[in-house]
Amino acid sequence: MLQFINQLLHKSVQSLSPCLLCGIDRQQQHSLCNTCWNELPWYKQHIERHQHQIVCAYRYDFPIDRIIQVYKYEQQLQYQTLLAQSLLNLSLPKIQAIVPMPISTARLKERGYNQMLIIAKIMARQLNIPVWQPVIREAQHSQ
Ligand SMILES: [Zn+2]
Repeated sequence: MLQFINQLLHKSVQSLSPCLLCGIDRQQQHSLCNTCWNELPWYKQHIERHQHQIVCAYRYDFPIDRIIQVYKYEQQLQYQTLLAQSLLNLSLPKIQAIVPMPISTARLKERGYNQMLIIAKIMARQLNIPVWQPVIREAQHSQ
């Protein structure tokens, strides 16, 4: 019940809030106005690395490069919906669960949040699938 009220409240506030990029038009469900959303550096292609198909949402160009940096390093969590919706906007194969990569304990203490777990939970809620966290980070190296 509390989650339902929270989602309803979030949608109401969101429908009245300005776009996170231009600040002019009203934001849609992805937190941007449709003009800014359409002008993002979409890539939407599959690339192959080490015999795995990887789906990329964007080229790492402005403004998405800056958004990822401030979301990840400057606690600008208002971009969580934009980033989750960007991934949901891809043509993904049918998936059963989302497995976010864990961050190191030291990084979690420093940052206060796992940026990918937040995005995974938004996606999982929308796809109605679970988030699995069976992966343990052994080596404490950053990417
Ligand atoms: Zn805009």
